[in-house]
Amino acid sequence: MAHDVIVIGGGGAGMSAAHSAREQGASVLVLERAPADRRGGNTAFASGTFRMVHHGAPDIKAVVPDLTDDEIARTDFGQYSAGDYFDDLGRITQYAIDPDLAEVLVHNSADTVRWLQQRGVRFLPNYGRQAYKIDGRFKFFGGSVIYANGGGEGLMDAHFKAAERSGIEIRYNARGTDLLQGEHGIEGVRALVDGKTHEFRARAVVLASGGFEANREWRTRYLGPGWDMAKVRGTRYNTGDGLRMALEVGAQPFGQWSGCHSCAWERNASDFGSVDTRHNGFRHSYPFGIVVNSHGNRFLDEGADFRNFTYAKYGRVILQQPGGYAWQVFDAQVKHLLRDEYGMGGATRVQADTLEGLVAKMQDVDAGQFERTVAAYNAAIARDVPFNPNAKDGRRTRGLEVDKTNWASALEVPPFEAYSVGCGITFTFGGVKIDTTARVLDIDDQPLTGLYAAGEMVGGIFYFNYPGASGLMSSAVFGRIAGREASNFSRRSS
Ligand SMILES: Cc1cc2nc3c(=O)[nH]c(=O)nc-3n(C[C@H](O)[C@H](O)[C@H](O)COP(=O)(O)OP(=O)(O)OC[C@H]3O[C@@H](n4cnc5c(N)ncnc54)[C@H](O)[C@@H]3O)c2cc1C
Repeated sequence: MAHDVIVIGGGGAGMSAAHSAREQGASVLVLERAPADRRGGNTAFASGTFRMVHHGAPDIKAVVPDLTDDEIARTDFGQYSAGDYFDDLGRITQYAIDPDLAEVLVHNSADTVRWLQQRGVRFLPNYGRQAYKIDGRFKFFGGSVIYANGGGEGLMDAHFKAAERSGIEIRYNARGTDLLQGEHGIEGVRALVDGKTHEFRARAVVLASGGFEANREWRTRYLGPGWDMAKVRGTRYNTGDGLRMALEVGAQPFGQWSGCHSCAWERNASDFGSVDTRHNGFRHSYPFGIVVNSHGNRFLDEGADFRNFTYAKYGRVILQQPGGYAWQVFDAQVKHLLRDEYGMGGATRVQADTLEGLVAKMQDVDAGQFERTVAAYNAAIARDVPFNPNAKDGRRTRGLEVDKTNWASALEVPPFEAYSVGCGITFTFGGVKIDTTARVLDIDDQPLTGLYAAGEMVGGIFYFNYPGASGLMSSAVFGRIAGREASNFSRRSS
């Protein structure tokens, strides 16, 4: 065999698999479909936040050694126990998550972050996006504290540098097309390299080539009508190749094939993401305003939970509105709470000193109904409850068809602003079934010899919705396990 382990896909899951196989002594080849200057997959597009179990400052300090005493003194990191993590995964996925995979994800989270750190990934507390300052102290919310320095791009840079140091071979412009089967199970990969067909032999193969979010036809086929029109937030290369290859050799489809992570996204964004402007399309501050459709009506509870727990399901709800778009509306009282991407280039934004003037600029919204919606919303707010962006404050509306259950702040102080949003798809939830050692299982729950999977293409973890910052964590945890197990298998079979 030319290599012990071949990894298909060089994103976060694939590179985690490559490192962990390599450190077990395996020779490793990564086949990556993208050219080198577009490498890193969706992982490179990520903000870089990781959701891990921690018990406050000492655990954060363990992965952020640069953390100063002064920073510790003025920060409340909170705690995020294994129980909290299970609760969030259960609640957010409507308890559909596979319990064995949940166990693996939760119990390996902190250790895998430390493992990444030892491989050169620098972690920092996410003061800018996951904490608010109250009375001079930062308080973290929503269960996620740390992010990789430089975001997903920084994370992937660290991965590729570590790969160079350890002698992992990477072929770019190398699109896996078929799995090669032999008497010992999966024995390699057929790939188009620079457009020419090659066969690569190995003792074990790790599939880590993402979901099918960038495949318009599959989106429509599996997610449903209208999904062809969603914008892809990340890479254009995750078109379901790995899933197809796995299904062709008998892998069991698993998880929610009709589900995906999708959120409010700049309405006029281009069809695919760009790493350089990867933050510009985010519109995640809706908990502090209202969201209306073209009829001028609110249609979701903007304050149902911290945005970490709602944003990944609201893209679908926006897509279902007439025309597939909506407007987020804010006033001057909450302007300081808007995330920095609201001020970045490329936003479809209008501003006016009156609500009437604002809706006139929104053009494609029923003006009369919009003004009635805002008036009813303002009148329904429990104004005696203090507004607190840092906690689910219970400052809510009562009696509306769709109530806002936290952070209800009246739209009454000019200037008013509105941002137009559509649906941006992040990744798909349907995948293949794996066991707790990342072996791909067939339809009878038996392992397909020599085949492992990790990352977005694993089914059974996310359903309906997604707790923010668990995608990178899941990719790293299962990638690390897949690489280690593939390497062990290759040693046993040599
Ligand atoms: C804009 C954005 C922001 C995000 N922010 C966060 C965040 O802050 N925190 C978080 O936890 N998650 C975040 N996510 C989700 C997270 O990025 C993913 O869950 C995770 O990175 C997926 O890792 P992966 O390795 O499975 O996929 P990817 O990183 O996409 O890697 C898959 C790789 O496979 C390659 N490939 C595809 N087909 C083939 C083929 N046939 N042959 C060879 N290679 C192939 C692709 O080119 C790609 O490089 C974000 C995603 C996006 C798009």
